[in-house]
Amino acid sequence: MKTKYRLFFLVLIVISLFISCKVQPISGNGIALGTSCSITVYRGDKDIDEYFNEINREERLFSRNIDTSDISRVNKNAGIKKTEVSEETYKLVEYGLSLSRITDGAFNVAIGSLVDIWDDEKVPSDAEIQKALGLIDYNKVILTLEDMKYYIYLEDKGMQLDLGGIAKGYIAQKLGERIEEGIINLGGNIYVKGRDDDNPWKIGLQDPEKDRGDYFSIERICEGNVVTSGSYERYFIQDGIVYHHILDGSTGWPARGNVLSVSVIGPDGTTCDGLSTAFFVMGVEKTSEVLKRFSGYKCVFVLENHETVTLQ
Ligand code: FAD
Ligand code: MG
Repeated sequence: MKTKYRLFFLVLIVISLFISCKVQPISGNGIALGTSCSITVYRGDKDIDEYFNEINREERLFSRNIDTSDISRVNKNAGIKKTEVSEETYKLVEYGLSLSRITDGAFNVAIGSLVDIWDDEKVPSDAEIQKALGLIDYNKVILTLEDMKYYIYLEDKGMQLDLGGIAKGYIAQKLGERIEEGIINLGGNIYVKGRDDDNPWKIGLQDPEKDRGDYFSIERICEGNVVTSGSYERYFIQDGIVYHHILDGSTGWPARGNVLSVSVIGPDGTTCDGLSTAFFVMGVEKTSEVLKRFSGYKCVFVLENHETVTLQ
């Protein structure tokens, strides 16, 4: 899946973008992070190029597709030696590790070797799956801080960090610091800011079974994130069966619950992104337990039987 630039456009549709706003916004679109990104600023830093420079800078730290990124260097040194990384990478991996623990591995920051074997767009052999399952233990991700230098070490050769389920939310939140009123959309990871209760942002949640732009509900928020994980945007089909990109580290297969999509709405983008991936794997019942630990967050599931379930 990583080799093909499969654009997934906007999972979520910003409905109120041009409504009742006196200020003329500045907008920009581009491809980054393997997806389609758009930025609209009503008030704040209107130098859109700077936003994309920042996205590209973060991508050069976190991407597994860039050989020199922090994450690629850590992965190459797995089982060999610890790698010095930027403070930003260290802290994002550290947060990813804590989410891995809180979600009992449903979000797994060390899932890279399993992602790799499903990336070829064909069902891997049992032997490949078993081998990969032996290389995703997030307890073997060792973080050390020595003399103000940040290091990450993966204990076993073949282990791979993967920030694909968390980094877009982190980057969207960080870009949001530059705006007073506006919207950041990184392939469906939405961050909005600068409205009040009289005129909130209205963000439509895509109906996973309908055309793009068909939404089943509207979230009204003044500031915060709306992040969706779904099985309907990135997948391949083999022998009539759909295999999507969100993997269950307890089985080695794409998560096979009854969930079509889950959106997480809350104040921190990194948390919303990581939790959306985890909740997709966990399903409604387990999510209701874990969500209790995240005050100020809510989630909306769409299930295979067309039911929607909101938890908060
Ligand atoms: P999410 O649910 O947020 O995340 C799913 C992704 O997380 C999977 O694709 C996998 O990478 C990982 N994952 C799967 N299962 C789990 C799990 N159980 N726990 C934790 N993580 C899991 N795509 C390209 O096609 N080309 C590129 O060059 C490219 N570069 C990228 C660079 C960066 C820095 C990032 C963050 C992503 C990049 N992508 C690239 C990936 C692409 O944008 C992903 O599809 C996206 O990150 C997945 O996001 P999502 O919102 O669909 O799903
Ligand atoms: Mg995610």
